[in-house]
Amino acid sequence: MNITNFIIIELLLIISAIVIFAFFTYAAIISFIEKEKKAALIFFMIGVLASMSYLYTGFFDFKYQFLVSIILLSLIIGLLLIYFIPIRFTANISDVFPKDRIDERNTIFSRNELHLGSENFNYYYQKNPDKLKIDDAIKNNPGVLSPESRNYDPAMFSSADASFETVAIFKNKVDGKVSSQKINLNPEKISTYIKNWAKKLGALNVGITELKDYHSYSYRGRGENYGNKVVLDHKFAIAFTVEMDYDAVKSGPYGPAVMESAQQYLASGVIAIQIAKFIRQIGFPARAHIDGNYEVVCPLVAKDAGLGEIGRMGLLMTPKLGPRVRIAVVTTDLPLIIDTRKFDPTVIDFCNNCSKCAVVCPSNAISFDERKSINDVKRWQINQDSCYSFWTLSGTDCARCLSVCPYSHPDNLLHNIVRFGIINSGNFSRLTLFLDDIIYGKKPAAKSVPDWMKVS
Ligand code: SF4
Ligand code: SF4
Repeated sequence: MNITNFIIIELLLIISAIVIFAFFTYAAIISFIEKEKKAALIFFMIGVLASMSYLYTGFFDFKYQFLVSIILLSLIIGLLLIYFIPIRFTANISDVFPKDRIDERNTIFSRNELHLGSENFNYYYQKNPDKLKIDDAIKNNPGVLSPESRNYDPAMFSSADASFETVAIFKNKVDGKVSSQKINLNPEKISTYIKNWAKKLGALNVGITELKDYHSYSYRGRGENYGNKVVLDHKFAIAFTVEMDYDAVKSGPYGPAVMESAQQYLASGVIAIQIAKFIRQIGFPARAHIDGNYEVVCPLVAKDAGLGEIGRMGLLMTPKLGPRVRIAVVTTDLPLIIDTRKFDPTVIDFCNNCSKCAVVCPSNAISFDERKSINDVKRWQINQDSCYSFWTLSGTDCARCLSVCPYSHPDNLLHNIVRFGIINSGNFSRLTLFLDDIIYGKKPAAKSVPDWMKVS
């Protein structure tokens, strides 16, 4: 080998060492900020060891130096090829659309509200006797936010309760009188206006879709509207997400997780109420769909509005935060411009190979299998009875699945570099899964409760 080639190889090794050290130090700092101490240590160690190897090989003469140089440079080239070459086999993964509407009375939240001996109770269990045993067992558990539950904490549970109670104040404000002064606005401009305003109010992402039949429940299952047929003939639905705090979700199944859920139900609910009121004010019917008073199935609307895909947990997986969001919806007749949805099969592909949520689920509610045909629609469905049963023991809404999902990492440069690779390359997506298990753990432990929350 001539001297010029050798100098080029040495230079490449030294440049690689600098880049590796810079990247992994950055990753370590970000992980430290995210309170992922194990990840920070691993990134730092990889950065030091890898950059030292490249530097040593570039600077010092030793037997087989040339061979080692080629191996080290090939490793980098291999990684870059895996990251950038868009090879992925997702032809067998197709978008799916429900055929039937969901009856809200079959949800565990609705069943849990049925009182023994009431007319609704008798009617429901006459038709669904198979549900009686499990529902009885769940009702005998302490209950969500109960002082008798396993993870009871007086301050955190009372805070969550305060947020849920505040949402409840808005339950009857979801709809109202429409102004007789109809103001006709340019659909494109008002769509943009509503999206920007929603973001200003705290929404993360906003999408607009045509309201489809399967978006709405067939029958109401909660509160005073129990058993009412849902007749929602609005033309459009505006769906938006709000972020759930990373640290709080990470501490699931303990108090901070349920505090955060309640808070974001409230935050999303308030935005929905404001937008619906605004639309009625300019002369068009509009209804907000918020916690405890939904006529639509929010994840289905949000998916069609282009905000994400439905993953293994049956939740909306958003591109930047995965399932770590809450959703609210406003349905309306205000003429709007709908968003073009582009199906992203990479999420389903990733979930097919990952089952981290299923591994950590304390109630085995999440399937390890691939999507199955349920009512002629290929999808995942969690066992809501098992999941809710755990909630009523824990006292919180758990969130272990959300907290370990590789998509739930914060929206920053480090994780966005990974997100780009996941979307771009099937091989990188598999490598990410492997690395996520090593760096964050296959079954990461719940994060400890922040000191300021410990008051008892
Ligand atoms: S919330 Fe908890 S119990 Fe429910 S599916 Fe997720 S991990 Fe399982
Ligand atoms: S943890 Fe894995 S399988 Fe579960 S939703 Fe997230 S990506 Fe999909």
